[in-house]
Amino acid sequence: MHAMVLKKLGASLEWTELADRQPEPGEIRVKVAACGVCRTDLHVVDGELPDPQVPIIPGHEIVGRIDAIGAGVEGLRVGERVGIPWLGHTCGVCPYCVRSQENLCDRPLFTGYTRDGGFATATIADARFAFPLGEGGSDVALAPLLCAGLIGWRSLVIAGDGKNLGLYGYGAAAHIIAQVAKWQGRTVFAFTRPGDVATQDFARRLGATWAGGSDETPPERLDAAIIFATVGDLVPLALKAVRKGGRVICAGIHMSDIPSFPYQLLWEERQLVSVANLTRQDGIDFLRLAPQIGIVTETTRYPLNQANRALTDLRAGRFEGAAVLVP
Ligand SMILES: [Zn+2]
Ligand SMILES: [Zn+2]
Repeated sequence: MHAMVLKKLGASLEWTELADRQPEPGEIRVKVAACGVCRTDLHVVDGELPDPQVPIIPGHEIVGRIDAIGAGVEGLRVGERVGIPWLGHTCGVCPYCVRSQENLCDRPLFTGYTRDGGFATATIADARFAFPLGEGGSDVALAPLLCAGLIGWRSLVIAGDGKNLGLYGYGAAAHIIAQVAKWQGRTVFAFTRPGDVATQDFARRLGATWAGGSDETPPERLDAAIIFATVGDLVPLALKAVRKGGRVICAGIHMSDIPSFPYQLLWEERQLVSVANLTRQDGIDFLRLAPQIGIVTETTRYPLNQANRALTDLRAGRFEGAAVLVP
């Protein structure tokens, strides 16, 4: 197999030939058909997440077909199309796992961060954490659903059922979740970098009723706001935009420091919460709903060996929607 491997934090990924691995008991081997590129991959490459490990193969929005099955795996077959998300393994016995909060597991493994991911021609996964994807939709179109869609979905559920929803940072996750929110009958207000007219146009084309700069006041008070951007300065701005009792959700795994702000912005029962990882139930719920909604993902395709260019373009905001690597 071949992979784009991170061998040193902060360095470029290296095209590397590796020995084919056989799945251990409970594992599957998947021939990768497409793997989305997520902002978290930038945090992995930059060494911004706790306890980074190298060498590691990044990538946690994997769509592929099972080509080998380890002992004891049930309910999956060779040739079946599956998706492999960020949550790659949980311990099953810690207080969080037994409380249906496996997203907070004390001893988890994360795909493309603490276990090898999908910037590769093949990958090995814990079979219990792979989602059967069926045959509807193309591999490339489905890939961004595996993290941008799933984390966005969890954030949307935690945002509650208020009608006016603000989305700060209109990249891969927001462009999917705006479509879900619209389908649910909500009104979406999209916030981009001030002056980013191209992304504001993109937002209006894909789900948003209003789009403007993050420094602008939306025409109506928000019931909830989800911050997908990694910019802590957005937190007081979002709190200012939500109504009394409204909720602000930080959806990213990493964020720059939040500046101090007057207590008045939080008062009147506004809530500020973060979303971490996903549970398998989130995946089952969202992937069941996605075909009904008819989500359209805007993707920019790169050959696998161009992963560094995809990461650079993501960092620079050179495309709308999501980048997807294809072996
Ligand atoms: Zn991700
Ligand atoms: Zn656990």
